[in-house]
Amino acid sequence: MSGRPLDSVCLVAVSKTQAPEALIGAYQNQQRHFGENYVQEALGKQRVLANYRITWHFVGPVQSNKTSIIANQFSWVHSVDRLKIASRLDQQRRPELGPLNVCLQINIDAQSSKSGIALEQLPDLAAGISGYRNLRFRGLMAIPAAGESPESARAAFRKMREAFECLRANGYCIDTLSMGMSGDLESAIQEGSTLVRIGTSIFGPRRQTG
Ligand SMILES: *Cc1c(COP(=O)(O)O)cnc(C)c1O
Repeated sequence: MSGRPLDSVCLVAVSKTQAPEALIGAYQNQQRHFGENYVQEALGKQRVLANYRITWHFVGPVQSNKTSIIANQFSWVHSVDRLKIASRLDQQRRPELGPLNVCLQINIDAQSSKSGIALEQLPDLAAGISGYRNLRFRGLMAIPAAGESPESARAAFRKMREAFECLRANGYCIDTLSMGMSGDLESAIQEGSTLVRIGTSIFGPRRQTG
């Protein structure tokens, strides 16, 4: 146990591949934050669930030809890793919706296959992303390498926490450390996560798609 109050960590239910009925079930258990990875799939569910008071988080890779939809159909984007994408989200977000909450995704294990920026790029990207009027820079997100030992995930989370504290010490008003999934949420929370993104532990195994 981390000894932290339960309400200090936001739970985002990552519902990719799950049918709307599964989201409704979680909603009836008071779940309000849902995360999706694929734009078209998310749009379908958002149509079905239009009357539910859901906060939608986009957690998948952001393609530049999808930024307009993402900018206006979601409240949060966790996976920004280029200023070009940030700039498009900013330009395309309708101002009357209020600022879009964004996190910068860090490739914390320097995996060639993963999206996200290197920690060395963070100072520049953080400065850049803070200049957009329709975006609100909220914090950092990471997905540590899968299949590594729990201790290596913990080390990755600790590096994230240090980078986060360093930005705060430099005057950034960020409050979100988006880390922890079904397999590693305990160490993520112990290392200071403020938001966990949980799929299989809520919904069971992902359904086959396509
Ligand atoms: C699928 C996904 C999750 C949830 O993963 P689980 O291991 O099922 O909890 C969290 N974050 C991102 C970015 C994902 O793509």
